[in-house]
Amino acid sequence: MTRYIFCTGGVVSSLGKGVTAASVGRILKARGLSVVIQKLDPYINVDPGTMSPYQHGEVYVLEDGTETDLDLGHYERFTDVNLFRHANVTTGQIYAEIITRERRGDFLGGTVQVIPHITDEIKRRIHLMAQSSGADVVIVEIGGTVGDIESLPFLEAIRQMRKDVGVDNTCYIHLTLLPYIRATDELKTKPTQHSVRELRSIGIHPDVLICRADYTITPDLLDKIALFGDVDREAVIPLETSDTIYDVPLTLEEAGLGEYLVRRLRLDAEPPDLDDWRDLVTRLRNPEGDVRIALVGKYVGLHDAYLSVHEALLHAAASHGLRLVVDWIDSEHLDEQDVAVHLAQADGIVVPGGFGERGIEGKIATARYAREQEVPYLGLCLGLQVMVIEFARHVLGDEQANSAEFMPDTTHPVIDLMLDQKGVTDKGGTMRLGAYPCVLQEGTKSRQAYGVDEVSERHRHRYEINNAYREILANKGMVWSGRSPSGHLVEIGEIGDHPWMIGSQFHPEFKTRPNRPHPLFVEFIRAAVEHRAKEGRGASCPEADVAPRLASKGLM
Ligand code: GLN
Repeated sequence: MTRYIFCTGGVVSSLGKGVTAASVGRILKARGLSVVIQKLDPYINVDPGTMSPYQHGEVYVLEDGTETDLDLGHYERFTDVNLFRHANVTTGQIYAEIITRERRGDFLGGTVQVIPHITDEIKRRIHLMAQSSGADVVIVEIGGTVGDIESLPFLEAIRQMRKDVGVDNTCYIHLTLLPYIRATDELKTKPTQHSVRELRSIGIHPDVLICRADYTITPDLLDKIALFGDVDREAVIPLETSDTIYDVPLTLEEAGLGEYLVRRLRLDAEPPDLDDWRDLVTRLRNPEGDVRIALVGKYVGLHDAYLSVHEALLHAAASHGLRLVVDWIDSEHLDEQDVAVHLAQADGIVVPGGFGERGIEGKIATARYAREQEVPYLGLCLGLQVMVIEFARHVLGDEQANSAEFMPDTTHPVIDLMLDQKGVTDKGGTMRLGAYPCVLQEGTKSRQAYGVDEVSERHRHRYEINNAYREILANKGMVWSGRSPSGHLVEIGEIGDHPWMIGSQFHPEFKTRPNRPHPLFVEFIRAAVEHRAKEGRGASCPEADVAPRLASKGLM
């Protein structure tokens, strides 16, 4: 019998519900249980693939090419379980399905309503997650905050789930905030009480309350919350803000949540083994030095837009025993003249993925700086494409070289639209998406980093290296170190006579795990450390700018 744990959030958004759900997954997995996590998102978009990073942060891509909410990245990183398309459900998908059925005549003249038709479809998706995964425990996170109009059908569906599958097989976890009042120097429980009351008014009685706070939560507050919330005292779990999100599973475990869930859901569990996780947190907290990486993108004011890239760098730095310091640099206001000023302190440079022309010339200037100054460079998807454009312009001498994405009528399309993308007009879910194999060239840095001949990596792109340019670029020193098995498509390019300058058409950042950092990131950080030593920089560096670079110029 599958057990279901439902996670809702109250009081305010951005409490870390995704990290909390992921952490619950980790502490259960640590007990030998199989766990999957599903996110129900109340917005009407079918998936986040068409949403701006400003709205939504990064789009996380699964093995099967599903474009999902960034919380799925937390789920996969924390549980180390690959998820598939059923793992992210949106209101858009639910309504699209019901309206298609209605048009087909499936409802035989009946009135189609939120209850039961929409709620039944939501429950069908939850059961599908359980059946397709066969997991012992399905954790379901409901996006948004209790009280939002748009999440009501999802809450009603999970309320019904308890009736459908039984009290013993369901557990409701509610995450709330205890705000701090400076004048009286205290944390307040009233918003939590209200939030629980709101949940109860729609028929959900939470079993567990996880209370977030920026200050120490004293036991008397927990007693009070248990009393007013009508929740077992041991199921009121304090979760104070930590220096690292990877500490959350350990905090929840120490507070007894794992034991409580096992008992509550009558799970057949082994004693928890979180040793490797503890080692990870210890490593993160006790670095032996710093590594400073410049991340040059156009959404740098919003770190969520590059969440997986940041985590991949963090995992790789921790594997070297180093603290990661990131300079977030806005490519839009970067040019050949001032690029050196902004990148001078970087031990390594990352140009992440992106779409559209804005900020491109700054990224090309960045690639030029990295190549000429021999600074380690990792290009991710668009980061490979700008690296190739730069090489074509300044090494091959083709000043007009460009991508058809930025200049559709260019006569020098060193980056061109993929053949099977021609004629595609729909924007949603139509890119080259998900895992594809990549064969690595013997004797290259990429092959050395991976240590194997073939890998599988996740993609999200429409453009590619134009094969018409492959040979002339190779003759000038560009090495095509990774290709599709047919050889037709470039997957990785590296600069032959550079210490470490590699770009991939795929997104390795989606496959990094805290205890299995991605080999390309591990090697990139190693190269960055060497560069740091060569530059004579000490073990530690001054704090990186908190605000993105260039903001001070009033340009943001
Ligand atoms: N815009 C580029 C393309 O579509 C790169 C995409 C990306 O970086 N994910 O090919």
